[in-house]
Formats: sequence, C-alpha cells, structure tokens
Amino acid sequence: MSVGKIVKVSGPLIVAEGMSGAKMFEVARVSEKKLIGEIIELHGDNAFIQVYEDTAGLGPGEEVTSTGQSLSIELGPGLLQSIYDGIQRPLDIIYSSVGHYITRGIDVPGLDHAKKWDFTPNKALKEGVEVKAGDILGEVPETELIVHRIMVPPDVVSARLIKAPEKGSYTIEETIAVIETDKGKRELKLSHRWPVRMPRPVVRKLLPEKPLVTGQRVIDMFFPIGQGGTACVPGPFGAGKTVIQHQLAKWSDAEIIVYIGCGERGNEMTDVLQEFPELKDPATGRPLMERTVLIANTSNMPVAAREASVYTGITIAEYFRDMGYNVAVMADSTSRWAEAMREMSGRLEEMPGEEGYPAYLPSRIASFYERAGRTVCLASEERIGTLSVIGAVSPPGGDLSDPVVQATLKVVKVFWSLEDQLAFERHFPAIGWLSSYSLYHENLADYFRDELEEKWEEMRKYSMLLLQKESELKELVRLVGQDSLSPQDRMIMETTKSIREDFLHQSAFDQEDAYTKLSKQSRMLGVILELHEACLRAIEKSVPLASLVELPVRGRIARMRYAHEKESGLFDEIAKDIEEQISKLSTKETAGGE
Ligand code: ADP
Ligand code: MG
Repeated sequence: MSVGKIVKVSGPLIVAEGMSGAKMFEVARVSEKKLIGEIIELHGDNAFIQVYEDTAGLGPGEEVTSTGQSLSIELGPGLLQSIYDGIQRPLDIIYSSVGHYITRGIDVPGLDHAKKWDFTPNKALKEGVEVKAGDILGEVPETELIVHRIMVPPDVVSARLIKAPEKGSYTIEETIAVIETDKGKRELKLSHRWPVRMPRPVVRKLLPEKPLVTGQRVIDMFFPIGQGGTACVPGPFGAGKTVIQHQLAKWSDAEIIVYIGCGERGNEMTDVLQEFPELKDPATGRPLMERTVLIANTSNMPVAAREASVYTGITIAEYFRDMGYNVAVMADSTSRWAEAMREMSGRLEEMPGEEGYPAYLPSRIASFYERAGRTVCLASEERIGTLSVIGAVSPPGGDLSDPVVQATLKVVKVFWSLEDQLAFERHFPAIGWLSSYSLYHENLADYFRDELEEKWEEMRKYSMLLLQKESELKELVRLVGQDSLSPQDRMIMETTKSIREDFLHQSAFDQEDAYTKLSKQSRMLGVILELHEACLRAIEKSVPLASLVELPVRGRIARMRYAHEKESGLFDEIAKDIEEQISKLSTKETAGGE
C-alpha cells in the first residue's frame, strides 16, 4: 500500500505523486471521499488513476491510497436477480439508502453478507481427500430456476480437505470447508473474489456444436450463433440494436443471462429495469430475473466505469459458465466503452490511432470476445460450460469502416448487419440478409439435421440463393423493366417477397410473433418454398402467373406467424391448400387448352 497526493485532476483521470509502491491495475481510493479508481499507468512514482466515480470538486493535495488489490468482484449466491453498477454495487440498495444519485465513495458489497443460504454438501468429499480448483463443494438453490454450485476457487492448485463441508445454513462469510494447501490452511466460503481483468481459467476450448436458440427467425435460420459463440450487431441509431439485445435476453435458451447496459441513454436502461422484472421464463413460467444479472452503467454515470462494467459482466458470466451452465452476455453498446477508452487515452496523452482511439483498442476488444467459448471447465472433463457474447456496436452514422466495428469484426464469428433502409421501411429485425453472415453453419449443421429431422440446411441455402437472385433481378427490372422477366423469374420475386415479409420480418412486440420455435420456423419456411416449387411446376403447365400470385393460400401464409403453437394442424392444412389450389388451376388450364 502506498499513500500519495493528487497533483492533477483531468475529468475521470487523476494523477497522484508519491505512489512508488503501487502496481498497475491496483485499486486506489482517492481523497477523503474514498472514490474508487484503478491505476492504469505508472511513471516513476506518479500513478495515473481512472476514477469510477464523479471527480467533481477534487483538487491537488488530496490524499490517494493504493489498496494492494486489483479490481475484483464477489462471486457467490445472490448474483442472480441483482442490478449492479459498473463496479458491482447493487443499484437498488444504493437507491434505497442514499437516493437516486449515487453518493460517491460508497462501499456496498456486491453480495448480501447477512443472508443465509441453504447449503447441501457434495457427499463425495470426505476429510483427507484431495481437492482442486473447480471441484464442487456443494450446492445452494439460489433461485427456483438455478442451482448455484459452490466451487473450489480457480487459484487453488491442489489441496487436501481438512474440514469437509457440512449441510447447513450459511452466510457467504461463514466457513464451509477448510483445505490445506502448500501455502498453509485456507478457509473456503460460499463466495470468493476474482479480479475482473483476468479471464477465469478453463481446461480447454471446444467448438460450438449447438445453436443459441433465439426464437428470432432471421437469426436462427440464416445467421445462427453457436452456444459459446460471438456475435456483433452494428447499426445506426434507431436500427434496432437494443431491441435485438432485449429479445435475446428474454428469449434465447441460455440458462443464465448477463445484460450489460453500457453508456447508452438512461431511459433505455429504465425500460430494462422496469420490464425485465415482469417477464416470465417461457419454459417454466418463473420470473426471468431468476436467471438474469443486470449491469447498468448509463450515459449519465461516470465514463470510466463503462470499462469496469464490461469486465464485471463477463467475469460474472465466466463464473456461471464454470459451474457448467450455458451463459450469454449482451453488451449494449461496446462503442460507448471504446469511447471511454478514447477519452482516457486522450487524457493520458497517448499517441492516438485511428479516429483518435488508442492503438490498443483492437487488442482490448479481442481479449473481451476471446473470453467467450464452449469450454471444458476446471476439475471435470464432463463439465462443459458455454459463454456466448453478443455485442452491439453503434458507429457514428452507422458507418461500418468505424474502428470499433472493424476491430470487432476481426474477432466475432457472426455479423448481424442492421440496415438503415430496412429500419426505415419498418422491416424489423433490420438484419440485412445479403450483408450479414454466420461462420457457425458447419459447426451447427449436424445439430439442425439430427435434432430437427428437417432439411434445415437445404432450405437455408435455397432461400439464400433466391434472395441473392432477387437482388440481381431487381437490378435488371430497374434497367429494363418488369416485362423483360420470365414467369419463373417473376415467381422468384414473388417468393422472396414472401420470405421477407412472412418469414424474415418479425415483430418484437407481438405476443405470438416475438418468439418462434425452431420447429415452427422450419415449417414456415418449408411451406413458402413448397408453394414456390408448386408454382414453378404450374408455370411449366402454362398456368398464368397472375392466378398463381393471387392464390388464396398466400393469405394464410401471411398470417402463419401469428398462429399459436397449439394450432399444430395449420401447416398440414396450408400444404393441402397449396396442392388443391394449384391442381385446380392446372386442371382448369389443361381443360381450357383443349
Ligand atoms: P438502436 O438501439 O439501434 O438505436 P432500438 O433497438 O432502440 O434502436 O430500436 C428503435 C426502434 O425500432 C424501436 O423503438 C422499435 O420501435 C423499432 N424496432 C426495432 N426492432 C424491432 C422489432 N424487432 N420489432 C418491432 N419494432 C422494432
Ligand atoms: Mg440502442
């Protein structure tokens, strides 16, 4: 620990002298208000500290103390249902104790230290056995939805159990077991701390093999993300980034959701804070918050804490992944985090890179997304956890050459490109089908084929081909007019209109449409393609195009997205309608021709 004095205050950056013993990334407490900051640069005995709280009113001469600790958070029962600021202070407790404006320097632990949790030990653990990092000491039913597995912390290499855990009711401060390590005795509790900038260790990474099912048709069918995968959603203001992130937080089949609201307007986060506690888990009917952790660092909160919020969020996510859960992190928006980095870098007078962002921007972004993955967890080959990361990026004017977008695209494997024009036409989600991509198709092909017993991949490829053809045809029509198209080409344009309007377009705000099961997705696309094939066959038999365009079954197809799951006969009926209505036209045509 060293004690120094402020020599300069520059917004969220404080320079303190006399900090010779301090280390990089150590937490420092600034002034008698004890504001929380982190040392981000050292020059001789001058420490440069980014302060996670409002620095207004601070001045030279005030005391700065380094704590010897790196920025770390508490991990244990009580994380779920919490709403935190960027440095894991529970916002509700702060609000109720000190009002709406976060009092500076306030010390509120991330977890409730007084609450007792029912703990059931792992029976296999007897005194004298060897234990190692990741071993499960026992379980706490944290919420109705989630069992919290209490693990030996990752930094325990190997140890002998000298007091086995016993069944009982414990606070997170009470000792549940004692181990003997080569450094001596150590008491284990229901919680432990972990430094947020350090990824939690895993045995190894595996390739994703299951999709993160989102219920969003354009995503699941055309641009899926694997469980343990990475995706980014860049787009201009109003294109639907936040709505997509919310949809994923509500509907994706991850077991644990960590939602990071980073630097966006406060009212958006208020929506989340009001709406999420009311939402129900579609599978169980339990409140969705029972599997959710929210982190809110809105635009009116200190800029430097944006960086902390991103690391706090991903660390919590890794912790649940280590228990073997499927976890998904949404960060909205990573651009605000990058802007905070740019601001700090400017104040540090570092050599600016592209657009004034620091040269280390790409490596910071990469190391954030690299914490995602499907992994073999410590202690057991059988325990596989996944951590999926979905980041929104909000480049100025939606410009994809923006350094944050470019750095992100280098690491993520899925790109959902939000297009201004689609949003303008109110085609939501405004994910452009020709510019977006997923690199997980190969990894997920087996899953779709085996689990759905459907021609999933075939349908996807065929529809994509039609959509590509449509854009060529549109160009042709623009140049030489509609009449130049063959009836087959006109039919393609009719079908792609249906793919766009009846399948890709999906309202987040309609009760039935907001979420579509995979099985329904494949039937929906299936009937659109069946109709297309049947129409092409009819064209061969000289059925006039106009009557095929006006087939009554098209109305049913347009309404299928609103059909309730229980109307299971619907798709068979549509298929029957297609066959009957087309064969009627064909016989009419043959009869008329004779
Ligand atoms: P961004 O975060 O990119 O600025 P938002 O996610 O806030 O944009 O979306 C802006 C608006 O677009 C929303 O308020 C909503 O009206 C509309 N919108 C976006 N996505 C959808 C969707 N899937 N369904 C219906 N409306 C949507
Ligand atoms: Mg937004």
